[in-house]
Amino acid sequence: MADKDPQRSDDTLLVHDERHSEGAVAPPIYQTSLFTFDSYQAMVDRFRGDSDQPVYSRVDNPTVSILHDKMCELEGGDKALAFSSGIAAISNAVLGLIEAGDHIVCVKQCYPDTYRLLQVICARFGITTEFVDGTDTAAIEAALPGAKLLYLESPTTWLFEEQDIKALAALAKAASVTTIIDNSWATPIFQKPLEVGIDLVVHSASKYISGHSDTVAGVLVGKGSIIDKLVLETTPYLGAKLSAQEAALLLRGLRTLPLRLQRHQESALMIVNRLTDHAAVTNVHHPALNPASYSLLRGYGGLFSFEVDDSIDIPTFCDALSLFRLGVSWGGHESLVMPAEVSINQAGSPSAAVDFGVPARLVRLFVGLEDPEELWSDLEAALNNA
Ligand SMILES: *Cc1c(COP(=O)(O)O)cnc(C)c1O
Repeated sequence: MADKDPQRSDDTLLVHDERHSEGAVAPPIYQTSLFTFDSYQAMVDRFRGDSDQPVYSRVDNPTVSILHDKMCELEGGDKALAFSSGIAAISNAVLGLIEAGDHIVCVKQCYPDTYRLLQVICARFGITTEFVDGTDTAAIEAALPGAKLLYLESPTTWLFEEQDIKALAALAKAASVTTIIDNSWATPIFQKPLEVGIDLVVHSASKYISGHSDTVAGVLVGKGSIIDKLVLETTPYLGAKLSAQEAALLLRGLRTLPLRLQRHQESALMIVNRLTDHAAVTNVHHPALNPASYSLLRGYGGLFSFEVDDSIDIPTFCDALSLFRLGVSWGGHESLVMPAEVSINQAGSPSAAVDFGVPARLVRLFVGLEDPEELWSDLEAALNNA
């Protein structure tokens, strides 16, 4: 992967770069399962590793490769790999880098299905995980000796607390521990963890990168040696690669990512400030309210949470909303509400919301691209009616 032109901003990179065969500005969608060879020798060369002609779309697809290149340039990574979901990216990374008996250190308040991957699937193979408060750098440092992986997510799910990513990357490196970070909340537009020494970044591209709530996808970006190891030893056999159609949807989403994030940020900060002043709101969790001295964030997203006092009946509040719709996920055009109580009562175990003690009176909001004043009126009316 060629280095990104240092003169070029992310905004320009995302819209200017595309020029495909015949001068097309949108990428060709290679809707094919396999690629044929012109000769016996060409096939032998490819299987020996002497050429990089695509073979089979479970492993290689040119539309998906365009997405890989773009994500590398944005994050400042050597190589990228796209998957059929964010959790597929996470499970491929974790399962590809550990062996039976290994130990993982992970931040508390990680994404709930990341928690189940570690506590259910990894545990089955004798892999143990210690969950540590991400704001306590010294506690993470103390947990590192003997670990194989340090898994970060900054800001975290539900409470949106940041970690000292740069310090933790250095501490992990000194302890020979590989670092992974979930960067879905910030996207590479607002946070670039590879620049401060993190080894591997993971994205749920279902969120902002898609941006239109029509795709489930994931991406890994990081060191070439790590991606090469995953490609050789893991990803073809777990088989969760992204389709060409969905890669094209993600490339479309990427073009407007900086613009959309700007709008999510402005609208969310306005609503965060008004919620902070509301009599029934006891706490608002958004990284802009208490910026960490070590924060790498260059901007703020539209996903945050708040807590309400006993005067608010949370089910009544949720049902009174009309613009904010009840739903999981986030990062698309539409505003969403997700009460923590629902996650606390989710079937199955273990539960991250229960085990990490997510407050029951907490509600998560995703501020979408609607008119922010209309969103506020919706929230204010629902709070007053609850
Ligand atoms: C949604 C999400 C994931 C999982 O991604 P999927 O695309 O749903 O598999 C992982 N991490 C975070 C922070 C998320 O919000």
